[in-house]
Amino acid sequence: MPNNIETHEYDVLVIGAGGAGLRAAIEASAAGVKVGLICKSLLGKAHTVMAEGGMAAAMGNVDDRDNWRVHFADTMRGGQYVNNWRMAELHAKEAPARVHELEAWGAVFDRTPDGKILQRNFGGHRYPRLAHVGDRTGLELIRTLQDHGIHQGMTVHMEQTVVALLQDGPRVVGALGYDRERGRFRVFKAKAVVLATGGLGRAYRITSNSWEGTGDGVSLAYQAGAELLDMEFIQFHPTGMIWPPSVMGILVTEGVRGEGGVLRNKDGKRFMYDDIPDNYKSQTSTDPEEGWRYTQGDKNAKRPPELLTRDHVARCINREVKAGRGSPHGGVFLDISWIKEKIPNAAEHIKKKLPSMYHQFIQLANLDITKEPMEIGPTTHYAMGGIRVNGDTQATNLPGLFAAGECAAGLHGANRLGGNSLSDLIVFGQRAGEYAAKFAKENSAGKITDEQVAAAQREALEPFNRGAQAGAGTEGPYQVQHDLQVMMQDLVGIVRREDEIVRALDGLVKLKARAAKVAVYGHCEYNPGWHTAIDLKHLLTISEAIAMAALDRKESRGGHFREDFPDKDPASAKYNAVISKQADGSMKLRREPIPPMPDALKQVIEEMK
Ligand SMILES: Cc1cc2nc3c(=O)[nH]c(=O)nc-3n(C[C@H](O)[C@H](O)[C@H](O)COP(=O)(O)OP(=O)(O)OC[C@H]3O[C@@H](n4cnc5c(N)ncnc54)[C@H](O)[C@@H]3O)c2cc1C
Repeated sequence: MPNNIETHEYDVLVIGAGGAGLRAAIEASAAGVKVGLICKSLLGKAHTVMAEGGMAAAMGNVDDRDNWRVHFADTMRGGQYVNNWRMAELHAKEAPARVHELEAWGAVFDRTPDGKILQRNFGGHRYPRLAHVGDRTGLELIRTLQDHGIHQGMTVHMEQTVVALLQDGPRVVGALGYDRERGRFRVFKAKAVVLATGGLGRAYRITSNSWEGTGDGVSLAYQAGAELLDMEFIQFHPTGMIWPPSVMGILVTEGVRGEGGVLRNKDGKRFMYDDIPDNYKSQTSTDPEEGWRYTQGDKNAKRPPELLTRDHVARCINREVKAGRGSPHGGVFLDISWIKEKIPNAAEHIKKKLPSMYHQFIQLANLDITKEPMEIGPTTHYAMGGIRVNGDTQATNLPGLFAAGECAAGLHGANRLGGNSLSDLIVFGQRAGEYAAKFAKENSAGKITDEQVAAAQREALEPFNRGAQAGAGTEGPYQVQHDLQVMMQDLVGIVRREDEIVRALDGLVKLKARAAKVAVYGHCEYNPGWHTAIDLKHLLTISEAIAMAALDRKESRGGHFREDFPDKDPASAKYNAVISKQADGSMKLRREPIPPMPDALKQVIEEMK
């Protein structure tokens, strides 16, 4: 290797230590292969730790009418039928076993009076389905997987950033990373690689995502030749904090609405009753009293419209704000304090059910949610699109490369239901680990050349060279990153239009040119400016893919809303958008027909309508 670069060799290399990466690493280790796990932050600090409301699994503990068929139908309806139906089927069938497995590994859950795992209501789920621990479920998931995982014999490399996948022909055979503290490069050789790098919300100005969510895995996979799927579908969660400015975008869990929280405009009106989509009318209450009973577990009541899917709720909030009926800081009000009209000791009940939300608002906004409504607005939350994978194996189109969790695409279609991500991580993390281990056992190590390592290293260090020559045309990475985030928020955000997306694509050309000249100063040890310069390439790549796919889809569906095409187009329900890198380095989109669904699954959907 060039410069005597430190090299590690594994059978399976997992990039990312969130729920998906940890679950994949556990599975691969259990299969008896040598596993390395890399993460940008410290172990236990991945974005999954921020998940609040719970993980969806049709265990039927609170309502015994629930089963995999209902969960499958809910996921497909929520995703507006462009989901990978095989993934939706596997997810609905396997999530309960994966949750019970966590319980066996020591995870603590809230319990029903008879000792079963408690399940709560969430938007788009017909029955109470989310296994949870208060509003700190992600922390418990990560803690359990981490505790279990470190006893499986895997090697963890913390605070390492992967900057390139290494290839032997099309096959992925390792990765080049650097240690964020010291800036030293490392080569990780592997027979199989699993990408589990999480989301990409940092491409937008207002986001609930942690600093890690810069879309690295999606971009690394694309650069290596993997296909991306349905990048236009970005979820804008309806309830993020909006005031004060220092907390803008931080998530307010859907659990607040699941526990009875209501949305009101500045006139005090519950505006969600004004617009209930046809395909949800049969499941949604038109009477607030019935909606309240639903949140309190009445099996005969229908859900309140606040618990409709996130895409719809976010757009209704947007509509109220645009019509001048918003709150003082440009959002609407979310009120859980009103439940004191309904139950004794409401303040204690809220603190018990939503402890993190209570502390979050007291500490960050000086507001007591047991007494006052919160001011909230939509925040960029989740990427339904990402790396295209095989539904059973999580294999990409590149031999040796697998992907799982938020960086992979398919399960959620055009819109993810809350709680379906944590269950996605454990179901498909397990599958990715299993099939990556199998691939590693069936294949010998590939070859990594010194030249490709040196080239990737040179590219990563280029911003320092420009800094050393500092002169005309160079700028730091932060302003370029900020300008990109503002542009994506304004032009490819919740409501999209052809002329604005075209402007965004033009803007991306200019931003790419600026990024190519970005300079950093100092040296590679402890240098956050350098890290940002490296992230820029990923942010620009995924932003281009999002804008290109958003321009191509001339209809409104799920997280993708076109003001110029506000309706769903039945013909567009028949394809997925696949993006790949061309030989000349350009990005190309093609529409690919969704494979026909087996009759048995079609029947499930019909039955659940
Ligand atoms: C505030 C909040 C609350 C949420 N609540 C819920 C909920 O209640 N229920 C639910 O289902 N979903 C929820 N979600 C969504 C869910 O938390 C995420 O989709 C999920 O945790 C993503 O997990 P992951 O394993 O795919 O990736 P992450 O947990 O994001 O982990 C990514 C890992 O990849 C590493 N990584 C990234 N890039 C690189 C690189 N270049 N080199 C090396 N390592 C890298 C990171 O360091 C990290 O370890 C919530 C999201 C947010 C923001």
